[in-house]
Amino acid sequence: MKNKNWLLYFILVGVVLGGICGWWFGPRMTAVAWIGDIFLNALLMLVIPLIVSSLIVGISGLGDITKVGKTGLITLIYFMTTTAFSVVIGLCMVNLLTPGESVKMVSEMPEGVASKNSLGITDVLPDILQSFISPNLIKSMLDMDILPIIVFSLVFGGVLTTLGEKGKGVISFFDAVNEAIMKMVHLVLYLAPVGIFALIASKLGAAGGGDAFWAELMKIGKYAFTVIAALLLHALVVLPAILIFFTRRSPLKFFKGASAALTTAFSTASSSATLPVTIECAEENNKVSRRASLFVLPIGATVNMDGTAMYEAIAAIFIAQMIGVDLGFTEQIIIFVTATLAAIGAAGIPEAGLVTMIMVLQSVGLPLEGIGMLLSIDWFLDRCRTTVNVWGDSIGAAVVDKLEEKYVEGG
Ligand code: ASP
Repeated sequence: MKNKNWLLYFILVGVVLGGICGWWFGPRMTAVAWIGDIFLNALLMLVIPLIVSSLIVGISGLGDITKVGKTGLITLIYFMTTTAFSVVIGLCMVNLLTPGESVKMVSEMPEGVASKNSLGITDVLPDILQSFISPNLIKSMLDMDILPIIVFSLVFGGVLTTLGEKGKGVISFFDAVNEAIMKMVHLVLYLAPVGIFALIASKLGAAGGGDAFWAELMKIGKYAFTVIAALLLHALVVLPAILIFFTRRSPLKFFKGASAALTTAFSTASSSATLPVTIECAEENNKVSRRASLFVLPIGATVNMDGTAMYEAIAAIFIAQMIGVDLGFTEQIIIFVTATLAAIGAAGIPEAGLVTMIMVLQSVGLPLEGIGMLLSIDWFLDRCRTTVNVWGDSIGAAVVDKLEEKYVEGG
């Protein structure tokens, strides 16, 4: 336990020093980017075997199919409700603070957005559904295309439980794989203080250092403030309230337990790369049951993104405000729905939310050029929303664990 505290303090020192060095030394800090990449790649290396083994062990640990169904339903309800809460908070804040009103839109269509110019919700919805199934699992693994891997592992794990003794052998194989990978996560975590330092310092350095970052931030300062305030409200009020209500746990202690995952999320801007640390924190520090964390967290890292959903809604209304379009109630409802879908469709990788935002803008006829206005500062806001995404997943695992104990295990 002492060992863990020690590591955590070093990680926090890494965050602070990374911020200071990146701010102060600017582009020179890009020289340490390779150290951050080693840490990031070490985490990414573990993601696919971790997801596959976690879901197989997780689903087989849940018991028979009715129990799996009930736990799945609880998880789904948690994901949907918390995402809905976060989008509503985002919509209220952006309508209240109107950050776009005093800003002039001067921007070009960003690359990669232009090609998707004609996408509408009716094109994107089948796209999202299609992305659940892949004709080639190996290719999905190579591309880190996680949704089909989740679907495959869930079904595979479910089917294994119906094979009796034969199935048990395979399940215990994956159980051992999972334990071994988690031990590797322990080892990778020792790199975290230096890795996190390097990731933050080099990214801030690449953005030009403190002065350039500040100047960019101030250009759309009220917008950044709205996003951060809404994220904080969700992360510090709504999610802790849910944690207390369902589990009677102390949010402060839970926060401390999850802090290695939260700082990793902030420094990598990727829920998927953070997944190994999220599982480690949930099981080891926050004592969430293994079966709940192995089931909820891999799925959550890919589909449950409270921060991203909120961000997409705020950004869409911000763009509307910039060009002087007054969106009515119906349009705001459409944004609510599409932002939620866009967050489910977004991969757990850096700046994925910017791409799925196209669907949100298209659904209410807003110009895609607006995304150009958000680009310069997205690397930073992405980190903030990814941290909230991971926080939402971590609390989700604890809530599902408790409810499963009460309603599924207890009958
Ligand atoms: N970077 C985010 C994540 O990995 C996704 C996004 O909002 O771009 O959770």
